[in-house]
Amino acid sequence: MPQIISLIPRWASTWGALQRTNAQVRSQCRCCGMQHRVDVSVQILRFGACSSPVNLQDRCMVVGCHGSVFYLVARTYGRQWITMDTRSAPLEASAPAVNAVSLNLGPPAKR
Ligand SMILES: [Zn+2]
Repeated sequence: MPQIISLIPRWASTWGALQRTNAQVRSQCRCCGMQHRVDVSVQILRFGACSSPVNLQDRCMVVGCHGSVFYLVARTYGRQWITMDTRSAPLEASAPAVNAVSLNLGPPAKR
């Protein structure tokens, strides 16, 4: 069986690198699919600047959900999101992404 080697870009290799490059980070729950924006400075306080979001197991923050999340990163707004999970194909094995766009929650109407 061929070994799948995932290439994680250097700017996304650690929480500290993500903070230095001002990258965008999201979490996505494998169970409920809910996506959250991730505050990288909070992750640095929790795990340390030298720790990595790659294959990090963390629990879903949605009330009542017992799922675990994986992380997605993008260099900046509008760039491709990169999945920080090298062990499997998390997007195929997980619930579809749920966020304000998928829930059709646009900005409030202007008065
Ligand atoms: Zn969840």
